[in-house]
Amino acid sequence: MVTTRIAPSPTGDPHVGTAYIAIFNYVWAKKNGGRFIVRIEDTDRQRYVPGAEERILAMLHWLGLDYDEGPDTGGPHGPYRQSERLELYRRYAEILLERDWAYRAFETPEELERIRREKGGYDGRARNIPKAEAEARARAGEPHVIRLKVPRPGTIEVHDALRGLVRYDSAEIPDVVLLKSDGFPTYHLANVVDDHLMGVTDVIRGEEWLVSTPIHVLLYQAFGWDVPKFYHLPLLRAPGGAKLSKRTGHTSVDHYREEGILPEALRNYLSLMGFSMPDGREVFTLSEMVEAFSWDRVSLGGPVFDWEKLVWMNGKYIREVLTLDELAERVKPFMTEAGLTWPSEDYLRRVLELMRPRFETLKEFPQKAIYFFQDDFDYEAKAQKEIAKGAALLRELKEKLANLPDFSQAYTEPLIKAFAEESGKKLRHVMQPLRAAITGRLATPGMYEMLEVLGKETVIRRIERALALVES
Ligand code: GLU
Repeated sequence: MVTTRIAPSPTGDPHVGTAYIAIFNYVWAKKNGGRFIVRIEDTDRQRYVPGAEERILAMLHWLGLDYDEGPDTGGPHGPYRQSERLELYRRYAEILLERDWAYRAFETPEELERIRREKGGYDGRARNIPKAEAEARARAGEPHVIRLKVPRPGTIEVHDALRGLVRYDSAEIPDVVLLKSDGFPTYHLANVVDDHLMGVTDVIRGEEWLVSTPIHVLLYQAFGWDVPKFYHLPLLRAPGGAKLSKRTGHTSVDHYREEGILPEALRNYLSLMGFSMPDGREVFTLSEMVEAFSWDRVSLGGPVFDWEKLVWMNGKYIREVLTLDELAERVKPFMTEAGLTWPSEDYLRRVLELMRPRFETLKEFPQKAIYFFQDDFDYEAKAQKEIAKGAALLRELKEKLANLPDFSQAYTEPLIKAFAEESGKKLRHVMQPLRAAITGRLATPGMYEMLEVLGKETVIRRIERALALVES
């Protein structure tokens, strides 16, 4: 069965790069009716950040990328955690020692530092310690690491399904540490042992791991295991071409969520970083991607993760994809955050219907729509000018509006048009002061729809307040 995995390390904020890689792993597993696994690679205790694991899992869930073996899908295990499997890695390191694919090395950190300075890297000198001596020293409790014994001379062939065959001269591959002196495995050992034991058939990961792959291939060989298929996807780049990092842009998915990006839009946008639909469609669901996916639709060009384009995609989801009910649920937390309340569910939906072409992130909504929810909003300078200029007109118009039986478009539209005509004014010269008075700004949804949603009482009250403002 096709089995894919992501293997994030809980070392900080949940990264957009992890989400991007997760999408391709998820999609490839689903495409093949296979399994998608999450394995937390938490063996580096120095870089471990409490809470990071929970945030990674929450991110995957938020993006709709739930894994197949885990508490939330009722599976038997998972997420897998390497820190719970330490005994296993030790056993496998022993196997490599027995097979003469590994050796114990006893250098102290200071010695290592000196060797690195003099030789440019570890030179494999502990290979020369007779085996019996090394075992005796280990039994006596002398601190040491276990290193891979890279066969030299030799060639290592790495086959990447996206990039083809790459040959490495084993002289370029160092005798990396597999088990540290504290008994914790390094990335290489734990990663390979786990991928094998978990039945991972397809390793889909970021390009930065390509350099580790020859080491992994050697380990598979050493254990006598089948090598999985490797796919190394290009790294996300910041506009300008540098690798996306904290220095070049925001990398935390939590940041984008807090800025009012929809999970659907982020997932869709990240998919486009490496994949395009056969029909060129830019907006698609996760299951549509599964349906259409094939590796020859994956491009290796350095994809640029661009905030402006993400916002554009988000706006598309707000305008065209989400239902009004969905949109209402999504904006509510942002309304609450901004301290705004809504009189009824129906009212919120009517406002959203008018406003959805006018905002692109959920966070923008409360601020752009504030005048639908409270009288207490600021008047833009330009709006104040309009009110001052049209004060006389506004006063007259207010009397007429006050006499209307209701504020549906069927009543307000003919009245306002007739009023403009009688006063010998262009419609715009009536509309702008009115708009400014009831919203504090000059760019708003259509006047008649807006009057209908706001209602007579609010509109009259605001015209009076605006007049008072310019007359004081
Ligand atoms: N722990 C590695 C990471 O943090 C896993 C890389 C891999 O997928 O092999 O991304």
